[in-house]
Amino acid sequence: MAKLHELRFDNTYARLPPAFYSKLAPTPLAEPHLVSFNPAAAELIGLDASEAERPEFVEAFGGKSLPRGAEPLAMLYAGHQFGAYVPQLGDGRAILLGEVRGPAGDKWDLHLKGSGPTPYSRGFDGRAVLRSTVREYLCGEALHGLGVPTTRALCIVGSSEPVVRERVESAAALVRLSPSHVRFGTFEVFHRRAQHAHVRQLADYVIGQHFPELSGLPDGHARFFSEVATRTARLIAMWQAHGFAHGVMNTDNMSILGLTIDYGPFGFIDDFDPGYVCNHSDYAGRYAFDQQPAVGLWNLTRLAEALSTLLAPEQIESALQLYPAAFANAYADLMRRKLGLREERPADAQLVARLLELLQRGHVDYPRFFRALGDFQEAPGATNETLRVMFDSPADFDAWAADYRARLSEERSEPAARKALMDSVNPKYVLRNYLAQNAITRAEGRDYSEIQRLLELLSDPFAEHPGMEDYAAPPPAWGRGLVLSCSS
Ligand code: AMP
Ligand code: MG
Repeated sequence: MAKLHELRFDNTYARLPPAFYSKLAPTPLAEPHLVSFNPAAAELIGLDASEAERPEFVEAFGGKSLPRGAEPLAMLYAGHQFGAYVPQLGDGRAILLGEVRGPAGDKWDLHLKGSGPTPYSRGFDGRAVLRSTVREYLCGEALHGLGVPTTRALCIVGSSEPVVRERVESAAALVRLSPSHVRFGTFEVFHRRAQHAHVRQLADYVIGQHFPELSGLPDGHARFFSEVATRTARLIAMWQAHGFAHGVMNTDNMSILGLTIDYGPFGFIDDFDPGYVCNHSDYAGRYAFDQQPAVGLWNLTRLAEALSTLLAPEQIESALQLYPAAFANAYADLMRRKLGLREERPADAQLVARLLELLQRGHVDYPRFFRALGDFQEAPGATNETLRVMFDSPADFDAWAADYRARLSEERSEPAARKALMDSVNPKYVLRNYLAQNAITRAEGRDYSEIQRLLELLSDPFAEHPGMEDYAAPPPAWGRGLVLSCSS
């Protein structure tokens, strides 16, 4: 394990043409202090966890001094925000400190979010509030714990610096780790500026870094785009199966590697509602929970336009056609496992669809229902009271339960094995908004213990964690249907 000054930087993005970024250093945060440190993320980059205790650590990630070998820069990108093209975005409040090679030689970007203004800040302050860094920090680990591809976070550095949002809050910075921070919008900006050589260079860069097996192939660009389409479909299928709404699926928030990136007003569904909108500024419900799969394809179509100088129209067409099937397969596969089914049957999609309708109608808590379904009793006389009472009208459950029972017996399902399978995909603990809010409220009073507790719990969400059952409870009245603002 390396000391901070021993991290091996390899700044590949800084070697791309200057048009791709602006080189600049972070603006130091006032009175920086460590809010939370994530040892699991440190391991990814081979960083000795005890380094977090040294003052140099907070100085480096509070923006005061640079880690040795870092070549900081703000990345340029553009993107479609709520459907409209915005020609100039970019890292407005983040800086790519540099890229570190992990123990296995894999590349990790160290991205400092909340690092002060950059040429892409568009008049905003370049800061992030403690509240939003806590949410991003915890959700990255929560989704990773669920097996969903995501960026991670190494630490949060707090500060006494005031930041004005709807109210005055304190500034903080988050060190985000990702194999890449290239977004759909990174391609869009060069395409729209008719800088076609840059589009090609960016595509070849991403392929060289992340899809080396496609490098130099005659159809390498087409296969790359197909891979992005497939990964995006699978990602969104996982979000859907786990009841996760990203909230702001603008093309600048879409990772070229199919990772969850840029956590804002995201939310996990409590009572199942396909129309769930977690962002209170999303008046039209563009990014409502049930719109996310279609938005994924819409966003890929924008990326296809940006790649249109590299791909033939038929190549674009056939890559985009991969999306619906990749989505449907990944979703069906996960939902089948959530129901404890080992075999595939044509009627399974129906069984899932009917269940979702009942969950919605009966105002049933999504994660709690699936976790409890692991204890479903198949015996003919069993009423499965625990499950029934979750529904507004318990009798609604019975007809579905009868079909589910029949389906289980069709494949000779064995209860213990089924429960083990189900418990490995139906989390006991999810980052409900109220849990995040509790951690934030305490953190704003400089008590960071709740962040650490949630970090540990959510990194292993399928285990029982005896004594922590309160964290699996449905939200209290104040925490129901929390809607969040985009301001962060
Ligand atoms: P987001 O919706 O958080 O992904 O942000 C959209 C764009 O606005 C990105 O280019 C951000 O860098 C930029 N941005 C968001 N908040 C700020 C801020 N406080 N200061 C400067 N830029 C910001
Ligand atoms: Mg963003």
